Amino acid sequence: MTGRVIGLPTPPFVLPYQPIWTGFAINTVFYAAILWLLTLGPFTARRMIRRKRGRCIKCGYDLRGAEHEACPECGARCDGV
Ligand SMILES: [Zn+2]
Repeated sequence: MTGRVIGLPTPPFVLPYQPIWTGFAINTVFYAAILWLLTLGPFTARRMIRRKRGRCIKCGYDLRGAEHEACPECGARCDGV
């Protein structure tokens, strides 16, 4: 037995003791984007689809065919629909 543990680097090796700021920033943005996609992405996509189809973005009520300032179903403002 030589005393060497399999899987560990042999000395001399360098231990990181300071963050790598560019990697830290890139990882932060990357994982924030994934977190945003998983949590808020579906709601944003639903609002975009409803707006594209001429429906109320809050409740999905069909707003086509009449001019409304507010949704007659839920009362949400209908700007740009
Ligand atoms: Zn509505």
